[in-house]
Amino acid sequence: MELIFELSKPGRSTADVSASDVPVVNIEDVIGRQYLRDDLDLPEVAEIDLVRHYTNLSRRNFGVDLGFYPLGSCTMKYNPKINENVAALPGFTGLHPNASDEFAQGNLQLMYDMQKLLSSIFGMAEFTLQPAAGAHGELTGVMMIKKYFESKGQKRPIILIPDTAHGTNPASGALCGFDTITLRSNAEGGVDIEHLNSLMTEDVAGLMLTNPNTLGLFERNIEQVAQIVHSKGGLLYGDGANANAFLGKTRPGDLGFDVIQLNLHKTFATPHGGGGPGSGPVGVSEALVNYLPVPRIVKNDPTYSWSASFPDTIGRVRAFYGNFNVIVKAYTYIRSLGTEGLTRATEMAVLNANYIKEKLKPYYDLPYDRVCMHECVFSGNRQVAQSGVHTSDIAKRLIDFGYHPPTIYFPLIVPEAIMIEPTETESKETLDAFCDAMIAIAQEAKENPQRVKDAPLSTPVSRLDEVLAARKPDVCWKKP
Ligand SMILES: *Cc1c(COP(=O)(O)O)cnc(C)c1O
Repeated sequence: MELIFELSKPGRSTADVSASDVPVVNIEDVIGRQYLRDDLDLPEVAEIDLVRHYTNLSRRNFGVDLGFYPLGSCTMKYNPKINENVAALPGFTGLHPNASDEFAQGNLQLMYDMQKLLSSIFGMAEFTLQPAAGAHGELTGVMMIKKYFESKGQKRPIILIPDTAHGTNPASGALCGFDTITLRSNAEGGVDIEHLNSLMTEDVAGLMLTNPNTLGLFERNIEQVAQIVHSKGGLLYGDGANANAFLGKTRPGDLGFDVIQLNLHKTFATPHGGGGPGSGPVGVSEALVNYLPVPRIVKNDPTYSWSASFPDTIGRVRAFYGNFNVIVKAYTYIRSLGTEGLTRATEMAVLNANYIKEKLKPYYDLPYDRVCMHECVFSGNRQVAQSGVHTSDIAKRLIDFGYHPPTIYFPLIVPEAIMIEPTETESKETLDAFCDAMIAIAQEAKENPQRVKDAPLSTPVSRLDEVLAARKPDVCWKKP
């Protein structure tokens, strides 16, 4: 496909503006310096070229609205358009972020109610909606943990992180100045309790646990894990990015978590990707409420206002209201589904993942063969041994079948990992068709491995050098 610059023809334009009847003033004479650059090479194209160019480009993209997107740990589910419609209401989009509280009552109430809804769904004392994404929520949570121990006068330099954790977990710990120590998993994919017992001392601020973890497995010993961490005065942090696996079934607060971050853009509408906005609210137990970011919304019946007078706060972590429109979409999602709907969403997410796990088990290695939650993790080891076809080849071949590849090579403890998260919104027909494609690829890997290694075969470009693209991106067009 040509670049927009290559379509350029001198004099073409999208707009025909009639000649001005206002006297021409040279702005550079007025302000006394050059104002417009003349070294910018802008493309000159007609409106139809412009529309076709970008429409064609958009058709080379892939999204949840186009097809199945089983990207493990990312919860790329379909989101009803009503969430978008509500977030687009002028009262939400038109409010100036600097408007005073009296003009923002409805928006403040929505945020206040959202905090209360999240607190009750997750069993936490309070929530902040400020953080802009999951990793930002983790950072906020760990900052609160740090401040908690500082104000108690305790030096605790260590945070424990399981070997299955998302990479953002150790990053958040390290950014706050903690040493991160890796906690081993046991043979069934949960926390190795003996290892936890040996690591958990009074030098440890806490454990950052994802439950269900990134193997899609629920931590069976969660109460014991919480008890061990608490017995040494530590705090239990929960990475709640996988919350669609337990809505309405259990609450982190009841399981012993002291802090938890959510990913509204995974669990509660607004699929992420493409660098779009996210929202990573953080919930805390009673012991940490004073450290929440400011400003916080306070209710002075019947009105709402911002307040920054919380002396122990970690301060502000995000400008204005956080990513407000993501919060509106998530609020709409929760209100339209209700308790029953949320519980059912979790049941479908777990059923769908187990359906895929059982269907593909004869064809791909399944390192942890037990009931999974919202996702299942296979290994491509068998295909590597049989014919040298790797997980990355299988992922590329899926593109030819019209599917977005699953997450691959993560979690790190599974060699050649293939992490499939079907989500709650997919029908049995879609799951069956995807499984048929995976089975066909397993067959092809045996019979015609080169074809799989050459994939994708149906895309505008085939294999790209992904390292080169990341290290030396060529984004500048130069006139030939
Ligand atoms: C996605 C994810 C994160 C990070 O969330 P972002 O919004 O991408 O910053 C953290 N932990 C887990 C388990 C995740 O799946």
